Amino acid sequence: MARTEKNGGGIVHDVLIVGGGPVGMGLAIELGQRGLRCAVVERYETIQPIPKGQNLTQRTMEHFHFWRAERELRAARTVPADYGIGGLTSYGTLLGGYHYDWLQRELVRPYYFTDNERLPQYATEAVLRRRAADLPTVDLLYDTVAEDLDQDADGVTLVVRDRLGSGRRTLRGRYLVGCDGSHSTIRDKAGLTQTKTDHDRLMVLLVFRSPDLHDLLARYPGKSFYNVLHPDLDGYWQFFGRVDLGNTWFFHAPVPPGTTHDSFDFAAYLHRAVGAEFKVAFEHIGFWDLRIAIADAYRTERVFIAGDAAHSHPPYGGYGVNTGFEDARNLGWKLAAVLQGWGGPALLNSYDAERRPVFASTARDFIEKAIDSDRLSTAEQKSSIGRRKSRPPDAARGERREGVARPEFPACGVGDFLRGFSLPFGRGFERDDSCRRSSRGC
Ligand SMILES: Cc1cc2nc3c(=O)[nH]c(=O)nc-3n(C[C@H](O)[C@H](O)[C@H](O)COP(=O)(O)OP(=O)(O)OC[C@H]3O[C@@H](n4cnc5c(N)ncnc54)[C@H](O)[C@@H]3O)c2cc1C
Repeated sequence: MARTEKNGGGIVHDVLIVGGGPVGMGLAIELGQRGLRCAVVERYETIQPIPKGQNLTQRTMEHFHFWRAERELRAARTVPADYGIGGLTSYGTLLGGYHYDWLQRELVRPYYFTDNERLPQYATEAVLRRRAADLPTVDLLYDTVAEDLDQDADGVTLVVRDRLGSGRRTLRGRYLVGCDGSHSTIRDKAGLTQTKTDHDRLMVLLVFRSPDLHDLLARYPGKSFYNVLHPDLDGYWQFFGRVDLGNTWFFHAPVPPGTTHDSFDFAAYLHRAVGAEFKVAFEHIGFWDLRIAIADAYRTERVFIAGDAAHSHPPYGGYGVNTGFEDARNLGWKLAAVLQGWGGPALLNSYDAERRPVFASTARDFIEKAIDSDRLSTAEQKSSIGRRKSRPPDAARGERREGVARPEFPACGVGDFLRGFSLPFGRGFERDDSCRRSSRGC
């Protein structure tokens, strides 16, 4: 049962959660279903309309099942249930003709208790908020910003302010969990440090409407996301994802450092990646730095961090939100065990011991490897094309210049196009001497 103690007139919560994004709300549901009294401190009452984490794994859907929110989540999908949720990788341009099926998530469906799912993160967050609001021991404090914390032997005091006013007050909890995203205030105030691997890349996130693009991609039926590899991009992806079926898309890809909303032709960049012109109406243009960051510890005394506050990485593979939900599930039952007296305090140390190595492995064994192998294969492709072009075809060996079973990258590469904006690009965008025309002339 919820423990309600008084703290100078205020409630002592079992757990204070800072951040009501997907991970904070998941944790609140986990704790609320176990009868623990918790408060979620969230800066915004309105959910940000950016699709972000779309891929929800089978394991994540198990969490939704046990959070009694699976049916509502599946009903909130924006693409019909019988449409595919796998992807495709293409070389050169999206329509260039050289492609393979990628991350065919449909194939593993029969092996899990729950099916995987795909929907925009704002739709997922809306379902979680509604479920958390149903739980009587969960207090949702919207438009409230956490500013500082202080912990002692019995609990944690959190200083919060109204986002829309200037009033400040304190909340008291036995434990506090920072689920406040990659720029976490809680991580910093608790003195938890991070190790970062910087890829020195500025990335753009575009959300746009384009029924024309849907028509152009009719040749790839049942695909929900598309990755375009180009040797000028040094292994970094140009990634298109469907937000719904037929109209809305998101796209992320490297842009030159210093790019702003006004200094770059984003429509031309999309056309270049697709290999065709089409009408585009932008809904959102944002930027993020491509880096991997992991906290050096997920706990200090009574303060924990989870989700992007503990670890963040580029959305390669779609692990971010799924890893965060697993953090919430792992930490939730352990906090309940200790608070309800059926688990010893040492149990809480196993959260860090179990969860940090999983993220470290995801970052090292999937994300870094994916970038390295794409860098290598596009570089090999580029040099083999260069070698073949520099010597005449060997007819005795059956070689022909036309119809080779290898992708030909566009004569004027993406790097050349990007340089057309007179912004210096980071490593990997060396000039291709075979193509000295200006981007505008290609
Ligand atoms: C373009 C893009 C595509 C992505 N695709 C995928 C994908 O396919 N699959 C996947 O798994 N992941 C994906 N991700 C990553 C995913 O979006 C994140 O991992 C996920 O949002 C992390 O959830 P979180 O709750 O930990 O943090 P956040 O979503 O960042 O939520 C943090 C919350 O804390 C609140 N907050 C912050 N500071 C304070 C404060 N001081 N006081 C009060 N509230 C505060 C914020 O308002 C926010 O609501 C993608 C991300 C991007 C940018």
